Amino acid sequence: MKFKELGLSDDLLAAVTDAGYEEATPIQAETIPMVLKGQDVIGQAQTGTGKTAAFALPILEKIDKSNPNVQALVISPTRELAIQTQEEIYKLGRHERANVQVVYGGADIRRQIKSLKNHPQVVVGTPGRLLDHIRRHTLKLDHVQMLVLDEADEMLNMGFLDDIEDIIKQLPEERQTMLFSATMPPEIKRVGVQFMQDPKHVKIKAKELTTDLIDQFYVRSRDFEKFDIMTRFFDVQDPDLTIVFTRTKRRVDEISNGLQARGYNAAGIHGDLTQKRRTQIMNEFRHGKLDILVATDVAARGIDINDVTHVYNYDIPQDPDSYVHRVGRTGRAGKHGVSMTFVTPNEMGYLREIEKLTKVRMLPLKPPSAEEAFVGQLGVAKEAVTELVNKTDTEKYASAAKSLLEEYDAEDLVAALLNDVTKDDSSQVPVKITPERPLPKRGGKRHGGGGYHRGGNRHGNGGGYHHRNNDRRGGSRNGGRGYEGNRGHRSNNGGRRSEGSGKRGFTIRKKD
Ligand code: AMP
Repeated sequence: MKFKELGLSDDLLAAVTDAGYEEATPIQAETIPMVLKGQDVIGQAQTGTGKTAAFALPILEKIDKSNPNVQALVISPTRELAIQTQEEIYKLGRHERANVQVVYGGADIRRQIKSLKNHPQVVVGTPGRLLDHIRRHTLKLDHVQMLVLDEADEMLNMGFLDDIEDIIKQLPEERQTMLFSATMPPEIKRVGVQFMQDPKHVKIKAKELTTDLIDQFYVRSRDFEKFDIMTRFFDVQDPDLTIVFTRTKRRVDEISNGLQARGYNAAGIHGDLTQKRRTQIMNEFRHGKLDILVATDVAARGIDINDVTHVYNYDIPQDPDSYVHRVGRTGRAGKHGVSMTFVTPNEMGYLREIEKLTKVRMLPLKPPSAEEAFVGQLGVAKEAVTELVNKTDTEKYASAAKSLLEEYDAEDLVAALLNDVTKDDSSQVPVKITPERPLPKRGGKRHGGGGYHRGGNRHGNGGGYHHRNNDRRGGSRNGGRGYEGNRGHRSNNGGRRSEGSGKRGFTIRKKD
């Protein structure tokens, strides 16, 4: 819906255009007219839906800019959210010169007292610090006409409910109240009943950050084990078009070289390569001439390829948003994808943060054993042999074949062929990846004051992960470790492996 249709002033419409917002989001389209009409609203919506502007715009429309009193109060669970909200309201109210201030704990209170003396019409704050200012009489709330309880379930989880009730008691009863929450536990509903008047409900479906088409797994392993485990997974899963993400350029080089040494059709891209080389590699990958692309986040920016079947996070990303971008390379255009994330024991907190954001639980996978990897390799090798047989002009080789069959056992000859088309395993080609400094330990604890990234812990939570229907994985290969992998081969693997490696020690016995 167009913002113009929502009944906002020209100044606000100009600010919306300046902000680059073209159309109102669903929560905005529903909430703004209700708030303008003076109704109380309970909005069930998460971060990312545009909920801040959904309450900021009607507040800015309704406040009297010539009135020096605080007319709107926004209570936020965290300092990060409070700051972001103040910035958004300030940005949208710039043309109207609305005065918006923010107060939060852990910062110099004298400076905040000074800013509150500046006659803000809108104040955003965290519960504890707001109460502090109320008690010091540095914040007067007797002219507040609009109250917003933002991320109410977060405030409940953080034990702020009593503080909020204490603040609400300071407000005029004649006021409009808006409550936003990603989830609606009974305590939040009670707040709605107790402190709101006939609230209208608006529910926005959670934005899906990762699609149900992607099966998301994680593998707990130590850093030095990752490479061998990853190649075993390649053998078991037989991925078709794969991106491996790593944290550093050095790892891109080491991993792509290591993969090549073990016979995989891999190449790496990072910022140190020339643009020409990067484009060349990307084109090879796009056209299926390359099976595995190893990349850093930065280099992978803008990769727009629809057929990626697997994303491997060799290093778990520090920022949960990066995870969403990375795995979003697969599961596109209605196709099924798989993501695999390696996690060292002290990185489990990062994994939980990602799950909190995506609302999807990753399923743990055990590393395949060497035997399982070998079984997987043999499956691929057999298909490669079938392909080789199909494309061979057998008559041309008939007499040479006959003479070999006289000399060797047929089974041994085929075994030698299979040996040749299977890849080298870790025992044959050891690959060492230089250790990188591990991510700082994150306890997986929630909040604790400072958020961890842009939004701090803004993302709705507590709403229970939705466990996906795992039927798709039913037909797993190799003892339930895998999933129904994408078996469409674009090319056989014969001839890709490095030359001259003594393979698996098969000996071809001569016929006696
Ligand atoms: P929020 O849900 O309030 O955290 O907003 C998420 C992000 O969406 C913020 O970066 C906003 O600046 C942006 N945003 C809000 N409304 C719109 C809109 N109508 N169109 C595009 N982006 C928007």
